[in-house]
Amino acid sequence: MITKPKGTYDLMGLDAKISNYINHEIENFMINYNYEFIRTPVFEATELFHRTVGDGTDIVTKETYDFKDRGDRDITLRPEGTAGVVRSVIENKLYGNKNDLIKLYYNETMYRYERPQSGRFREFTQFGVEVFNSDDVLIDAEVISLGFNLLNSLGLEDVLVKLNTLGDAKSRTDYSAALVNYFKPHIHELCEDCQKRINTNPLRILDCKVDKDNDILKNAPKISEFISDESKDRFNKLKSYLDNLEIDYEIDESIVRGLDYYDECVWEYKLDDDVALGGGGRYNALVKNLGGPELPGIGFALGIERIILKLKEKIDEQKINNFVDVYIMSVSEEEKIYAIKIAQDLRLNNVITEINGANLSLKSQFKIADNLNAKFLIILNNEDLQKGLITVKDNITKEEEKVDESVIVDYILGVI
Ligand code: AMP
Repeated sequence: MITKPKGTYDLMGLDAKISNYINHEIENFMINYNYEFIRTPVFEATELFHRTVGDGTDIVTKETYDFKDRGDRDITLRPEGTAGVVRSVIENKLYGNKNDLIKLYYNETMYRYERPQSGRFREFTQFGVEVFNSDDVLIDAEVISLGFNLLNSLGLEDVLVKLNTLGDAKSRTDYSAALVNYFKPHIHELCEDCQKRINTNPLRILDCKVDKDNDILKNAPKISEFISDESKDRFNKLKSYLDNLEIDYEIDESIVRGLDYYDECVWEYKLDDDVALGGGGRYNALVKNLGGPELPGIGFALGIERIILKLKEKIDEQKINNFVDVYIMSVSEEEKIYAIKIAQDLRLNNVITEINGANLSLKSQFKIADNLNAKFLIILNNEDLQKGLITVKDNITKEEEKVDESVIVDYILGVI
């Protein structure tokens, strides 16, 4: 038997239902917040990720799926969404109109060669948004609150935004230099990865999972000591916007994010047990660094598999798995002809409808209808049909009524 590759999964059953529910909610949010959908290729030139995500990051050093295609080009499966979107914005000159906000979202599979475990796959899905052409803190607040509100409305009410600022490019460079000075004498007390990070990505040492309880990390210089007054003002303004929007957030100086391109605000969406559902940040220099114009940007990504996992703990499986408005019962050929026609009419009127598609006895059909939590039963029988009548049973109160065949759809629409 050929099995799926390690770290991948087949989306089906309850997970597929929850995934559809999440996607539905995402679509609604994106309409109301006025974001446009974008899809970029699953694979891009390898260089794109080296120049955006960063040479020293875990993603690029250890996790990308890199290969040569048959034309000998260096190709990488996308490990995250921002790089491709930025490439596309530049390539398609989406910034043509000077005053337009560019508000984009994606909802796509990503690929990272990580050690698979609960909530961690090699092929996984991220929903993300990116906003370009505004450096206004108001947009920081919009983007951060969008993710928070979406998670809330999906049913994850305990989500908390862990928020930090990395300051502007100068603060970040100064801070990196201070960290190198600080960590150098202690470097042999840190994990192997951190010994490399000191040269490639010193900020990343701060969110090392291996060394996280080490006092050396706890006593490291704080980013707040290096933030310019301007960045501090920005951050205070952001906090007051978020207060006004009643977003649950907490300042957490250990949030530096694993990717190279961030400046100013960075944040993660977390639950009590410290699982990160997603994160994001501002990246004002990224578009320019990739050869585009001066175009500030900000965005976040949420991990859909982790959201599914968390929602699954809360959802009443029986309820979400089985649910129809109407079950239509039929046995004879004549009844079946009516059944499929009425089902079509109801379905086209947004009524969730199921029929007896397996030649079952009446008794079995009653049982199936109960399993499906059908609200109403339409019980067809030849005798009634000859008189132009159809029996409708309220499957909760168990009351029955005979309805004129010509008004059956209107009748159902009136009672559900
Ligand atoms: P990142 O781009 O690494 O900040 O990831 C953003 C979010 O994507 C994380 O908070 C996770 O929810 C999700 N994520 C990242 N890597 C994986 C993975 N290997 N498997 C599943 N979800 C992931």
